[in-house]
Amino acid sequence: MKSPAYPVTDDHIHIDPKNGRGLEAAKDFFRAGGTHLFLVSKPSWSLGVEASSGADYRKVYDETLRVAEMIRGIGITVFPVLGVHPAEIGRLTERMSLRDATALMRAGLDCAATYVRDGKAVALKSGRPHYDVSPEVLAASNEVLAHALDLAAECSCALQIHAETGPCADVVEMAGAAHMPVERVVKHYGSPDTPLHPSLIAKHEALPQLIREHRRFTMESDYMDENSRPGAVIGPKSVPRYTNQLVAAGIMTPEDCFFVHKETVERVYGVTVELK
Ligand SMILES: [Zn+2]
Repeated sequence: MKSPAYPVTDDHIHIDPKNGRGLEAAKDFFRAGGTHLFLVSKPSWSLGVEASSGADYRKVYDETLRVAEMIRGIGITVFPVLGVHPAEIGRLTERMSLRDATALMRAGLDCAATYVRDGKAVALKSGRPHYDVSPEVLAASNEVLAHALDLAAECSCALQIHAETGPCADVVEMAGAAHMPVERVVKHYGSPDTPLHPSLIAKHEALPQLIREHRRFTMESDYMDENSRPGAVIGPKSVPRYTNQLVAAGIMTPEDCFFVHKETVERVYGVTVELK
C-alpha cells in the first residue's frame, strides 16, 4: 500500500472488540486514510468493571492497551489516553457516599498517571458531568478535575476533558492553579469559543473558517464502538472522510493537513506523528 500524502489523526475514538465492531472499525478508519488515533479508555461500566479501589481501574486501562496493540497490527499509530469518565460519579454514588466516590475517582486517575509515567499512555482523561447535577456533585467533580490537572502537570502530559457544552472558561484558572499549560488541556467535543485546546467533531461547521484563520484545533470522531448504540455518534471513518472532503473541495491544503494532524497534535500531546 502506498503511503498517504498527509497524516490524518483522530483525537478521540473508542474501539471496543467486546461490545462493538472492534478491529473492523479500526480497519475502516485505516482504509479511509486514517494514520494516527488517540484511543480513549471506555467508562468502567461498559467493560463490566465495578471499581472499589484505584487499582481496579487497571482492568479498564489494560484492556485499552491490549486493544491499542491490536490496532497497531493493522498499521495505525495508536496513542492511548487513560482516565476516569466523569459520569462515573453518578454510577459510584449509587453504591457509596459522594465522598468515597470522589476519593475513588481520584485514585483511578492516580492509577492512570502511573501508565503515563511508564510511557504506556500519552495523556490523561477527566472532566465533569455534561448534564445537570446538584451543586454538591458538581463541586466533587471539580475536585476530581483539579486533581487530574495536578497529575497531568506532574506527568507533563496533556489532559482531555469531557465537560458541559460551551467554553469551560473557568478551567483556565483551574489549570493555572495546577501549573498546567492551558493549550495542553483538550476540550473533547469542543467548540471554537473555548480558551482550552478544541478537539472538534469531524463534521463541525466551523472547520473551513478555522482552517482559513490558521487556528489550532484537532479533529475527532468520538466513535463509541457500541453495537447497542449504532449511529449514536459519527462513524470511525469520519475524520479521514471529512479531511479528504475538505482537501478535495480545496478548503484544506496538504500543508493544512500537516498543521492540524501533525504539528498541532505533536504540540498538544508531545508525541511524534510520522507517516509510515
Ligand atoms: Zn469518548
